[in-house]
Amino acid sequence: MPAARDGRNSREASGPTPQYVEALHALPLMSRSQAQRLMAVLAHPDDESLAIGGALARYAAEGVEIHVVTATRGERGRYFSNENRPSDAEVGRVREGELRAAARELGVSDVTLLGYHDGELAQADSLEAIARIVDALRHARPEVVVTFDPFGAYGHPDHVAICQLTTAAVTAAADAELGATSGLAAHRVSKLYYFVSTPAKWAAYQAAFKTLVSRVGGEERLAVPWPEWSVTTRVDTREHWQTAWRAVRRHQTQLAVYRQLGELTPEHHEALWGTQTFYRVFSLVDAGRGLETDLFAGLRGPRSATHLETSHEPEALR
Ligand SMILES: [Zn+2]
Repeated sequence: MPAARDGRNSREASGPTPQYVEALHALPLMSRSQAQRLMAVLAHPDDESLAIGGALARYAAEGVEIHVVTATRGERGRYFSNENRPSDAEVGRVREGELRAAARELGVSDVTLLGYHDGELAQADSLEAIARIVDALRHARPEVVVTFDPFGAYGHPDHVAICQLTTAAVTAAADAELGATSGLAAHRVSKLYYFVSTPAKWAAYQAAFKTLVSRVGGEERLAVPWPEWSVTTRVDTREHWQTAWRAVRRHQTQLAVYRQLGELTPEHHEALWGTQTFYRVFSLVDAGRGLETDLFAGLRGPRSATHLETSHEPEALR
C-alpha cells in the first residue's frame, strides 16, 4: 500500500458528523495550492481544441497547470483530402504532432497518449484502460478533471468510452488499495466535470461547419444537447477564443472539415468559443449553490482553506 502522503488518516471521526463528511473535511485540499492543476481526458487529437480549447487556454493563461490525456492518435480519422493516404501508423504520427502543437498554443503543460486504437476504445480492456488513467491522475494530481459527457457529445463510441473510463478512474485513483503496483500515491480529485453543449451552442457549432453524425451499427447518432437548466458551470472564455482558434488550426489534417471556420465572423467565433459550459458530476468542495463561473470555484482563496481547517475540529464534535 502506498504511503499516506497527506496524513488524511490521522484524524479519527467521532460524534454526530457522519464519518465520510469528517473525512472530507480532513482532506488537505489546499496543500498543493501553489499551482492548481486541471486534467482533460479525451479521445482524439483535436478534441482538446475543438471541444474545450477556450477553457484550457483561459486556465493556462491564469497559471493553472494543464494536463491533457488523449486515448488515441486518431489514426483512422481524416488525412487532408484522404488522397494518397499513408498507413494508419503514419496518420497517427502526424496527428500526434498536431496534437502537441495545438497543446503548445493552448499553454498545456503536458500531453499523455494512452495509445489505444482509434475507433476501438469501447472494445479495449476497460480495467487496463482505467489503470492507465489512474496512473496519469496520480502522477499529475489534478484538483479538477474534465472529460466528455455520457453521450459522447454526438454518440461517438470513443467519446462515450472515455467518459465511462475516466469517471471510473477518478474513483479508483482515490482508493489507496487499488493499483498499488504503480508506486504512485492515491489521489482524490476534488471536482469532476463533463463538458456539455446547450442547444444554442450546438446550433452555432453545426452551422459553422457540418452536422456531426456517428454511425454505429447501422444507426445514426446526432448531437445530444444538454438543456440550459442542466448546466452547472459557465466559463467565460471570450478573451481566449483566438488562442483556441489558433490551436484548432494546428490540426492541419482536419482543416478540410474546418475550412468554413476560417470564414466565420468574429461574432460567430465568439459564439463558438466565447463561453464553455460544463456539468459538474461531483464536487468535494463547497462552491456554493449558484451557477458556477469557474471550474476551480471552492478551490481558490482563503475561504476554502479556512473552511477546511476550522469548521470540523475534532473537539467540536465531542
Ligand atoms: Zn473526438
